[in-house]
Amino acid sequence: MKKHFAAEKVVLTQSCTAAMKIAALALALGPGDEVIVPTFTFCATATAFERTGARIVFCDIDPVTMMLDPKDLERRLTSRTRAVVVVHYGGASAPMETICELAEQHGVHVVEDAAQGFGVTRSDHPLGTFGTFGAFSFHESKAVSCGQGGALLVNSGDRELLSRIDSIAERGTDFALVRSGEKAFYEWTGPGSSFQLGELEAAILLAEFEALHENLAVRRRVGETLLKGLSAMDLPLEVLWSDAQTVSNFHFVGVLAADTDAAEHLLAHLGKHGVDGRRHYVPLHLSPRAHEMGYGPRVLPAAEGAWGRLVRLPVHTGMCERDTERVLATLADWNV
Ligand SMILES: *Cc1c(COP(=O)(O)O)cnc(C)c1O
Repeated sequence: MKKHFAAEKVVLTQSCTAAMKIAALALALGPGDEVIVPTFTFCATATAFERTGARIVFCDIDPVTMMLDPKDLERRLTSRTRAVVVVHYGGASAPMETICELAEQHGVHVVEDAAQGFGVTRSDHPLGTFGTFGAFSFHESKAVSCGQGGALLVNSGDRELLSRIDSIAERGTDFALVRSGEKAFYEWTGPGSSFQLGELEAAILLAEFEALHENLAVRRRVGETLLKGLSAMDLPLEVLWSDAQTVSNFHFVGVLAADTDAAEHLLAHLGKHGVDGRRHYVPLHLSPRAHEMGYGPRVLPAAEGAWGRLVRLPVHTGMCERDTERVLATLADWNV
């Protein structure tokens, strides 16, 4: 994996959440620090950083991509900001050029939550290689899976940071030095936990990597057929936008209905015909946890306006041509 990504370091972890927790500990975040997180994401994007005592600052999204809006990001950067977490949503890629430039101007780290983005490239660069850190998930709900697993990419040559990560991933010890023969016995050196992937899952993951190109080709065939079919129909749906620089893994194909009622109507129609359509996240700033943090509605309008309109269409390596045709036929049959 290290060779594939040309990263300074790759740590296989038990989950993407664990990978982001390592990043949070490595950055030594704590009370008084702020971490900017898009509100439209899975809660692990926030919890991994919140547990350090840093304050989570929610950022609005671009409703055309459902990903972090650089303009809103700019408004939320302060002297207390230490990191911005970018979520690559649905097999697409966030506008990393703009985001990394802003982050650099303000001296903050970029962490890529690429949980859904394994196998995706942006301008020929794999996701996870733009920020200081990139985190992947190999949970069963993702395009590449070993049941439960993850990985952290570290794209920094900072020797001190790299050795801190060794220690954090080795349960807070300098066991890495024992392994490399530099020390005879290990000692407790700092914070850490049992974050690393077990060997059994790693063996399954290796087999998944060997089948990666084949599986991605199937996903791309299904995804592209759905996109082509959708564009040929005159439905009141906007397809989630993915720019020409992105080569997707088609984590799913997402569409936005005209409003929440239309999305509910479409989901009921798909369900009736045995097509597994799904909604997605309630924006985090509207969650019970965010309420405790003092957040409430009407602060991040783009996310609030878009999340209820989203319907995810299925993409799976087990889908044959007939299944894809059936999804399209069911969509064509939808009487708005
Ligand atoms: C799945 C997912 C996660 C969590 O991944 P785990 O491996 O289950 O920890 C985090 N962020 C996003 C955007 C996800 O889709």
